[in-house]
Amino acid sequence: MVTSARSFDVVVIGAGPAGGYLAGKVAAAGYEVALVEEHREVGEPIQCGGLVTPRVFDYVKCKETIIGSVHGAELYSPSGRRLVIDGHQTEAVVVQRALFDRAIATDAVRKGAHTFLGAQAQGATRANGGVDVVIDQDGASKTLTCKILIGCDGVRSNVAKWFNILRPKKIIPGFEIEMVGVRGDPGLVTLFIGNEIAPGFFGWIIPSGDTARVGLCVGEGNAYAYLERMLRRPEVQQYTKGAQPILYIAGGIPLGFPKRTYADNVLVVGDAAWQAKAVSGGGIFTALTCSDLASTTTIQALEARDYSSKMLHRYHRAWTRSIGKELRKDLAIHESFSKLTDTQFEELFDIFDNARMQELIEKKGDIDFPSKVGWALIKEDPRLLKYVGKALRAMIGKSVGM
Ligand SMILES: Cc1cc2nc3c(=O)[nH]c(=O)nc-3n(C[C@H](O)[C@H](O)[C@H](O)COP(=O)(O)OP(=O)(O)OC[C@H]3O[C@@H](n4cnc5c(N)ncnc54)[C@H](O)[C@@H]3O)c2cc1C
Repeated sequence: MVTSARSFDVVVIGAGPAGGYLAGKVAAAGYEVALVEEHREVGEPIQCGGLVTPRVFDYVKCKETIIGSVHGAELYSPSGRRLVIDGHQTEAVVVQRALFDRAIATDAVRKGAHTFLGAQAQGATRANGGVDVVIDQDGASKTLTCKILIGCDGVRSNVAKWFNILRPKKIIPGFEIEMVGVRGDPGLVTLFIGNEIAPGFFGWIIPSGDTARVGLCVGEGNAYAYLERMLRRPEVQQYTKGAQPILYIAGGIPLGFPKRTYADNVLVVGDAAWQAKAVSGGGIFTALTCSDLASTTTIQALEARDYSSKMLHRYHRAWTRSIGKELRKDLAIHESFSKLTDTQFEELFDIFDNARMQELIEKKGDIDFPSKVGWALIKEDPRLLKYVGKALRAMIGKSVGM
């Protein structure tokens, strides 16, 4: 039974980085914004390694959530060969993800957003030129009416489903264990590559202050079972033997490139719009970038009182023409590399085990724009072309004039 109704300019579903940031931007422009989160605590449960580049702090002012910094990576091949790529300066930082999300939502509230916590959005329909959103908060059903509904509700977005916005081509499962007592250089991320370890993706150890997050994603199958097996491997055990778990983290990474991230009165942003990088699974920087572009279109639509899909298409155009270009390339890179055999990975290690290649990676490597270093490496050693698929070869042709 509906017990109350409240009216807003904008209702944002999901208080992750995309939702919290968007709610704050639109509220700061003087509009009434509701931020709806199904959990009682913003940021919980954590579904993330927390590795981001310092670029995210151009959007959000919460450097106090940083618990470590990373200047390079060590990579293990399927047979256990080790390669170190060291940039010698901070390339990325690790944030305490729950505190990070909470800091963004706190800022949104300070800017005037209204939070509904422990409130699950259960349905939404268009009505009277706007949208009626039904939420369940503490067993009470409430209706929030708005002009624009924004789905920042993550990888299994219901908002996208309710408004017939396509679902990701694939969601790849990930599992991570935060552990105490992991050894290793706290300035290096460790990556484990190979089809027996993590087919279709890779495994990792991300140092995070006095703990470390040991995890993996796999193209398909049971991520937890793969992680248990990874933890038994000697190259992993040298870091994790004797370490104890304190937190289990499960989640999924959306893969694909959406045709549409808008409809009349509706936008989807962040993981809900498949805006994570297919190469690394990182989605915080891209979610914030797209959220910023979504806030611009939302404010323009509210100013013009035009909530049509034609107006809201501006957001789709803006993100696909900017960060979307990188996301498309990342998808092609991922598709190429997820098909490689272990023998081919070993051949790649041979190619990269070379001072000039490592120097290039150290100089041009950027986890937010992985394709940039990819093009440079192919130019340096065209043998790499053998390992890339059709889609990527077509893109390379355009980018490096081959
Ligand atoms: C194992 C793993 C490790 C990762 N590691 C990293 C990393 O190191 N660095 C990085 O950049 N990215 C990482 N990512 C990706 C990153 O976590 C996501 O890309 C990012 O959280 C996307 O932000 P978002 O705001 O779009 O969605 P989310 O953070 O998923 O937020 C969505 C919110 O919506 C809420 N919600 C959903 N449905 C409803 C509903 N019906 N009603 C109300 N609320 C609802 C959820 O509770 C959630 O709070 C990782 C992902 C996984 C799975």
